[in-house]
Amino acid sequence: MMQVSSENKSGRQKALADPKTRELLRRLIVEKKQLSPEVGADGLIHYRAAEEVTGAPDAAHEWIEEMLRLGILKKGPAKDFVTCPVHSRADPLIELECLKCKARKMRKTTLIEHLYCGYIDEDTKFDNEGFLVCPNCKRAIKSAEELRSSGVWFECQNCLTKTSIPKVVFECREGHEFGTSELKLSPAFTYSVEESVVGQLQSALILAPALADLLSGMGYRVSSPATLQGRSGTSHTLDVYAKSGEGSDVAIQIAVDEAAVEPSAVISFFAKAYDLRPKLSVLVAIPSASQAAKQINEGYGITLVEDQDGSGAVQKVKALVEKPGTG
Ligand SMILES: [Zn+2]
Ligand SMILES: [Zn+2]
Ligand SMILES: [Zn+2]
Repeated sequence: MMQVSSENKSGRQKALADPKTRELLRRLIVEKKQLSPEVGADGLIHYRAAEEVTGAPDAAHEWIEEMLRLGILKKGPAKDFVTCPVHSRADPLIELECLKCKARKMRKTTLIEHLYCGYIDEDTKFDNEGFLVCPNCKRAIKSAEELRSSGVWFECQNCLTKTSIPKVVFECREGHEFGTSELKLSPAFTYSVEESVVGQLQSALILAPALADLLSGMGYRVSSPATLQGRSGTSHTLDVYAKSGEGSDVAIQIAVDEAAVEPSAVISFFAKAYDLRPKLSVLVAIPSASQAAKQINEGYGITLVEDQDGSGAVQKVKALVEKPGTG
C-alpha cells in the first residue's frame, strides 16, 4: 500500500472534484446503498445506481474501476452468474432434457413415504379423488406429518425414462444453446464505500448542499454543482457557484483529503477561477491545506478556508461573503 498513498491522494482529490463522482458517492453514503449487480433486459450485468449517474454501462464500469484503484470503493462478495460463452448474456432459459430420447418433456415427481406402513410411491398415487389415501394400507391421511418426502425424480413424458439427474440445457436468448460444460460462470461483485473514506467524504458531500443553502438564503442565485463556460470557451465544474442581483459572484470548490490538501487542488481550482473570473474564489480545504498548498495559494488570489471536518466551514464562508467589498 506504500507506493499508492501519495499518488492516490491527489488522484482522490481529482476524482472528488468531479460532480458525478460526488453525486454517486453521496447516494452510496448518505442513502447507505451498495452497488449490486443486476441482469438487465439486454442480458448483461448492470450496476443501475452507477449508470443512473454516469449515464452509460461502460462509464459505470470505468468509474467503478477508478474508485477501486483510488481505494474509495471496495469489493464485497461476488455472485456467480451463469453466462453464455458466446454472448456473455446472463439470462439463459433453463430446460431439462431426457438423456435417452432428448425430448424436453420432463415431469417432476416427488416420492412419498407413508410413515405408518412404510410404503413409498409417487405423490400422485396418494391422491384418491381429492383425498389423500395410502395406496398400500388404504388408510386416510389426515395431516402432513403422516408423510415424508423421500426423493425426487424426473420422468420423460416421451419415452418414460426416469432419472434423478436429467441433462440441463441452457438456451441463450440470442438463439442458440449450450450445456453445463460450456457455460461460463461470471463473478460480479457488490461494491461499497471504503469505511476509512466515508467520514471525509461525508463532510464534502454534506458541505456543498449546506453552502448552497447558505448562499441562496443570502439572496444569491445558486447552482451546485455548477458547470460554467470560461472566457477561453472551456467548461468548468464548480461545487457551488452563486451570483447576486448586483452581478457579484462567488465560486466555491471543496477539497477533501485524509491529511492536508495538496497544491494540486489549489492549482486546478486556480485554473478554473482564472478563466471564470468570479469576484470571490473560495477553496474549502478539509481537514487543512498543506504548507505547499498555502504557499502556492498566496499568489493566486484564492481565499483558502480550512476546516477540520467541514462542520465549521459554512460559518467561515458566510463571514467571507458578508465582508464589505466582497458581497
Ligand atoms: Zn449466446
Ligand atoms: Zn400405508
Ligand atoms: Zn425420453
